[in-house]
Amino acid sequence: MFRTLLLSSAIALALSACDRTATESPMPNTAPVATAPTQGENPLLAASTLPFQAPVFDRIQDSHYQPAIEEGMRQHLAEVRKIADNAEAPSFTNTIEALERSGALLIRARSIFSAMTSANTNPTLQAVDEALAPKLAEHADAIHLDPALFARVKSLYGQRADLGLTPEQVTVLERTHEDFVRAGAELDAAKQAELRKLNSEESSLTTAFSNKLLAANNAGGVLVEDVKKLDGLSEGDIAAAAEAAKAAGKDGQWLLALQNTTQQPVLASLKDRALREQVMAASLGRAEKGDGNDTRATIQRLAELRARKAELLGYPSYAAYGIADQMAVTPEVALKLLTDTVPAATTRAKAELAKIQAVVDAQNGGFTAGAADWDFYAEQVRKAEYDLDEAQIKPYFELDRVLKDGVFFAAEQLYGITAKERTDLPVYHPDVRVFDIFDADGKQLALFYLDPFKRESKQGGAWMGNFVEQNGLTGDIPVIYNVENYTKPAAGQPALLSWDDVTTLFHEYGHALHGIFSKTTYPSVAGTNTPRDFVEFPSQFNEHWALDPKVFANYAKHHQTGEAMPQALVDKIVKARTFNQGYATTEYLSAALLDMAWHTLPSGDAKKDVDTFEREALAKYKVDMAAVPPRYRTNYFSHIWGGGYAAGYYAYFGAEVLDHDAFQWFRENGGLTRANGQVFRDKILSIGQSRDLGTAYREFRGKEPSVEPLLEHRGLK
Ligand SMILES: [Zn+2]
Repeated sequence: MFRTLLLSSAIALALSACDRTATESPMPNTAPVATAPTQGENPLLAASTLPFQAPVFDRIQDSHYQPAIEEGMRQHLAEVRKIADNAEAPSFTNTIEALERSGALLIRARSIFSAMTSANTNPTLQAVDEALAPKLAEHADAIHLDPALFARVKSLYGQRADLGLTPEQVTVLERTHEDFVRAGAELDAAKQAELRKLNSEESSLTTAFSNKLLAANNAGGVLVEDVKKLDGLSEGDIAAAAEAAKAAGKDGQWLLALQNTTQQPVLASLKDRALREQVMAASLGRAEKGDGNDTRATIQRLAELRARKAELLGYPSYAAYGIADQMAVTPEVALKLLTDTVPAATTRAKAELAKIQAVVDAQNGGFTAGAADWDFYAEQVRKAEYDLDEAQIKPYFELDRVLKDGVFFAAEQLYGITAKERTDLPVYHPDVRVFDIFDADGKQLALFYLDPFKRESKQGGAWMGNFVEQNGLTGDIPVIYNVENYTKPAAGQPALLSWDDVTTLFHEYGHALHGIFSKTTYPSVAGTNTPRDFVEFPSQFNEHWALDPKVFANYAKHHQTGEAMPQALVDKIVKARTFNQGYATTEYLSAALLDMAWHTLPSGDAKKDVDTFEREALAKYKVDMAAVPPRYRTNYFSHIWGGGYAAGYYAYFGAEVLDHDAFQWFRENGGLTRANGQVFRDKILSIGQSRDLGTAYREFRGKEPSVEPLLEHRGLK
């Protein structure tokens, strides 16, 4: 389980960076809550005896993680030492497969720990995370930079065509070799020593960044003393703001908490312009206050050390290093994908801004519309042009119905699988729900956990991860979780989702399906262990089914009356899909180009002031529209500074080319059918990275992917 181990945190982080935002919702708690810890023993040290090795959350305490992970590293190093020192000549079985089997304790403890630091953290876990990060980086280096071990890998790699290996084994061998080389196995001792120091420092800094940003987000909300200022917000939003203030010790006031993206959902309905500007300013400058949560010094050092790391490894920039093992292969390819779309996106955004300004002028606003006004007036444009109001559609999107009659229903139609809730397994928070996932023949495929609601202990966004990875060597089936950030409604209120929330639920379950259907022999290439610019393909692809007429009709029913959504309203949702896509595409491209700008810096150049650098980079790529700030500014861009998306935020767009192109194949072949689903399951969803994914895609599609369906979908053609 070698690669999985070294990558498991990268993958968890990468997925935790799933670019999704949050909105509202309640669910009955049916699962038992963690209680009554046993003294003296550490449950992480042994495999769970619960079904499918489900984590024993009723017995795990915060104090168990660090000793279990440290013991896991010790055991793993001992296992690796045995492999490296084996007197027998290297073979695939005694070296590569042995590595795949190693590190079981470390993987188990780390998978659960990284899930908790993302979704249910606290100061104790954060401190453990900060303490462990450099040790884990050193651990990975101790293995990759072990000369005896690398000699065995290298020797096998040289003879790979003559070893009688299966195609999957060849892939695993090639990837293992590549991992060693990319980690510096071929460098001289002095350079390896420097690399080890840089890796350790990098992991400390990314952890520090995440912890600072979580604190900055929690401290960065806008406190309102007079409820009249909240005019325009729904009763539910106002109640949520009152509860947020109460939780922050400001009872009797209202707290507009920050979401992780630049745009804040409340801005679409807040009538008070001064308050809108205050919220936008709080968002843009959340981690630039010169206090302990200021992230800029951390960012500067990260950019600098990554550039140096790439230089040591023989690459002109960190982006060149980071993209070399991706589908895109070079920063130039990734950059071209982005910059080619800039003119169409910004032209469209300028046209949208003109419409917004026209509304402002028609109302004698007397001001130039800016970023803080965008969503408020865009919402009016939407009502005027599409006559669509979020408040009209939300009653038709009740969480439980969207989940069971939408997300699970679509998966059954396409792939024949079913989900059944169970309440006997322990969970880490009362909101978490657990489902058995069965194949068409009744055989259990996976366990699936869903953690739907926003809370202070959870990072922003939405993501998927594994507690247990599918493993053909051990026969383990996947234990998978999805985490969302829907606003928890007040007690007794229904969990009503926005349209964006609905697509997020489909998105994350798309990642889950990628894990659930995995059928590889070796865990390092199982499920979502794929390049970043591929990993968002199954998830984004799954979003398409939210609007499939058969699926939609099955879940979009009024939460009180059970009536289907009127067709006129459905038509409006379909029509409104291209609404505001100039803004959405431009803010995305700006963030992706900022990522590329930071990570294409040559070593020694990353010393510029963060804000100046950002301003110049946006101007250089012609995405410097004041009314359309990047989706994430540098100071709170957790994908690239705290997660696994450094030089990889472009990947969403790369994967989007694939998801629209693949959906086009379904359209050409009769849409939502079991037969089509089976083809997609067999050729894409089950293969992990057991073979070349570009080839696999072409075999599925019968041709190269085309960008046209994407541009058409976004209304940019
Ligand atoms: Zn995703």
